[in-house]
Amino acid sequence: MFKTIFSKMIAIFIALFIIAFTITGFMLSYFLDSYFTDEKGDLLEVTSTAVNQLFESYLESLDQSNSLNNARLEESLNYLLNVLGRNTNSYIWIVSKNGYIYRYSDGFSQSIINKYGNGEGVIKIPEDKSFTRLTQEVTKIREVGDFSGFFKDPLYANAGDLWLTVGQSFKYTDTDGNDTMVIIYLHTPVKDLKNAREVFKYFLSSAGAAIIFSLIMIYIFSLRLTRPLKQIKNAAARIANGEFEKRLDIKSRDEIGELAKTFNQMAVSLQNLEEMRRGFIANVSHELRTPMTSIRGFVEGILDGTIPPERQSHYLTIVRDETDRLNRLVNNLLDLAKMEAGEMKLSIVPVNINELVRKCVINLETLLLEKNQTVDADFEEEDLFVKADMDAIERVLYNLLHNAIKFTPAGGNIKVMIRLQKGKAEVTVKDNGIGIDENELDMIWDRFYKTDKSRSKDKTGTGLGLAIVKNIINEHGQRIWVESKQGEGTSFTFTLERAYEEVKNQ
Ligand code: ATP
Ligand code: MG
Repeated sequence: MFKTIFSKMIAIFIALFIIAFTITGFMLSYFLDSYFTDEKGDLLEVTSTAVNQLFESYLESLDQSNSLNNARLEESLNYLLNVLGRNTNSYIWIVSKNGYIYRYSDGFSQSIINKYGNGEGVIKIPEDKSFTRLTQEVTKIREVGDFSGFFKDPLYANAGDLWLTVGQSFKYTDTDGNDTMVIIYLHTPVKDLKNAREVFKYFLSSAGAAIIFSLIMIYIFSLRLTRPLKQIKNAAARIANGEFEKRLDIKSRDEIGELAKTFNQMAVSLQNLEEMRRGFIANVSHELRTPMTSIRGFVEGILDGTIPPERQSHYLTIVRDETDRLNRLVNNLLDLAKMEAGEMKLSIVPVNINELVRKCVINLETLLLEKNQTVDADFEEEDLFVKADMDAIERVLYNLLHNAIKFTPAGGNIKVMIRLQKGKAEVTVKDNGIGIDENELDMIWDRFYKTDKSRSKDKTGTGLGLAIVKNIINEHGQRIWVESKQGEGTSFTFTLERAYEEVKNQ
């Protein structure tokens, strides 16, 4: 139940509609009823009290021994009841405790008397709940309707009308001295109320029409709402199946349009990611296959004797270098994967960056000597402490210096500068080597990327060094950037937070 937006909207709407219409309907019918009956009811009530007084004095004036007097009294009672009845446009009944109409103003036709009479021409009224109440205590009632179906009878001139009935009970003592009740009823047809109730019926039918109309509107609206949602759902299912090219064409400018736009952006990102993943796998396989093929070739050559024994050590050296490279490649890949998975835990301590640079240069001394390159150090202070993970930053420095050595011709010069800039240390490794083409500058950070020019200069590189460097610096929350001019040289600069407090503690 209520699984669709449409059914939910319909349920809420119908509930709201019913509540609103019930409240309005009740208020309207209450207002209409009291508007048309209050004044008249008051008049009838006053009249019923007057009728009671009249009846009381009639009973008091009855004289058992004077029947002529009694007949005259009877006549004048009837006359007065008729006058009061006509003036108030009502039927007046004086009813005994057992439900017989004792006296009444005109209005009963012979056929009614025949139908409801008890054989002696005395009419019995329907004894309903309110009549029982009236016979039990001195009270008043006021009702609108047809007096328990009594006035519905077609024998009545006003049959089918709505009637306002006012009833009042009075305590009397009967001829035997017992307590009894006399109930005085006044009934008047209220035509206006009937009309008003007609209006109320129109109100109800217009409410029905409004509900139907609104249901149609909600249906159309929910279709408009759910159609794009279904489109998005289908597209999501296709993307889940790996069809990343799927895009949505939803032009609406509302939240759904926004959702579709974001969805498309997500699809683009997923597609890029997928392409990157494919590229990465292709790169890794290529990088692994090339050295393995050559290793296999040399080993086979040695085994089948194609390579003469005196050349074997030469090829075995190449095989060793290649396996070293493979080893480095796999280790670097694993490190990168760990970093990207957020598994790299840095232990940030105050590190003397100047000292670290010196250590790296010493480690690379053999290479520097081989290429007859010089390293100039340009430090602002003797010792500068930074907040860093020592091993990680050593790896960064080593990579940058190693790159500088590799991509600078023999006899070149490398410069390491450390500057203080707004509480940060800026470390620059600058060379006067082959440089990097402007178009390639953005790509050197990508995994496996090697510039065309560099390939001939360095065959051992895996192209993962700078990707690792960038990751490490990012993990430190710092920046690294490169400036380069082809043929003139390259400079890499990264920042590190200066460690003040720790220096004092050292
Ligand atoms: P690895 O560092 O894994 O041994 P690599 O040095 O080739 O291999 P990166 O350090 O990631 O890989 O460098 C990527 C590429 O950027 C290099 O192949 C080279 O083309 C270019 N590059 C890096 N540093 C310099 C530099 N100092 N001068 C010129 N080109 C550079
Ligand atoms: Mg490198």
